[in-house]
Amino acid sequence: KMTNLKQLGEFGLIERLRSRLNTRSPRVKKGIGDDCAVFSAGANTVQLTSTDALIESIHFDLKTISPIQLGRKAMAVNISDIAAMGGTPYLALISLGLPTSTSTKFIDKLYLGLQTICDSHKIELAGGDTVASPKHLFINVCIVGEACKNRVFYRTGAKPGDQIFVTGNLGDSAMGLKILKAKNKNFGAAKHRNALVKKHLEPIPRIEESSLLARSRLNVTSMIDISDGLTQDLGHLCSKDNLGANLYEDSLPVSEALYNVCLQKKYDPHNWTLQGGEDYELLFTIKPEDVKNLKRLFLKANTFISHIGEITNSPKKITLIRENGSKVSLKTESGFNHFK
Ligand code: ADP
Ligand code: MG
Repeated sequence: KMTNLKQLGEFGLIERLRSRLNTRSPRVKKGIGDDCAVFSAGANTVQLTSTDALIESIHFDLKTISPIQLGRKAMAVNISDIAAMGGTPYLALISLGLPTSTSTKFIDKLYLGLQTICDSHKIELAGGDTVASPKHLFINVCIVGEACKNRVFYRTGAKPGDQIFVTGNLGDSAMGLKILKAKNKNFGAAKHRNALVKKHLEPIPRIEESSLLARSRLNVTSMIDISDGLTQDLGHLCSKDNLGANLYEDSLPVSEALYNVCLQKKYDPHNWTLQGGEDYELLFTIKPEDVKNLKRLFLKANTFISHIGEITNSPKKITLIRENGSKVSLKTESGFNHFK
């Protein structure tokens, strides 16, 4: 019987591909299954490679994102995957699929966005590919970075008792998208709306924070960047090793803007922090004895961190512990999935 992508889902498809491809080189430290592929590049260095595409009408709408923002975001989401592993990006290639009607002014602005973020991270834009696309625009970035061999942070590695932390606020980007798509824009004060929309259109990859962790002596046991929502991405930290997690509802980081908009719209802000995608914050686990040092390390940082939970030994079970002590089981599939 034939199976289609709708039944398989994005992750089912990736698992199917993974089980059929086998990496042969001993230099591949990590193939499919993490934020980047990890390849030995010297005695103490590994190369990190990742690629992510943005497709018009699925990932962006040209009516709501400027070409400069689009260029910046396409690069930012790729930089985020390097950050997710504790690395530093240094090279990128861009593939563009362009409808014939695209103006050169649009391309110039797109590249201005790409160039600006590359400059600020000292990334070389060293090539790419250009093709015609029948209807929609697409932009794919392939990014290369490096990390110190023994300071690469994988998705696997957490153990029961490890403490879960996240950088910045969660849910803002998803609410920003909701505001962009809404016909009626009565989502509270303009300053809050603008802050949420900005987080969606101009995400900041957490390279600084990642490098702070990599340069420290803290025992970071696993890390991922949150692209598909906290519950789903936390599921990736738990799934391979049959782990679970407890999340404390009152520790979830809700921005003032998200809080205010939710208050006005009568939404529960925690649903947005748990399921909202595209925040590109770092989610990581550390040993309980390192919590104090971690907090001390981030006192000087520009971004705050939140201590949101701990890893348990309940296989694939993510439990939300409410302020009143009651417990709710969360579905790790409730986040973004292409094809579903
Ligand atoms: P992220 O959300 O960090 O971009 P993905 O969920 O897209 O990660 O990918 C998970 C893993 O699956 C990665 O290791 C990625 O390289 C791999 N992967 C995704 N699509 C394919 C594909 N078409 N062929 C081979 N590997 C893939
Ligand atoms: Mg990632």
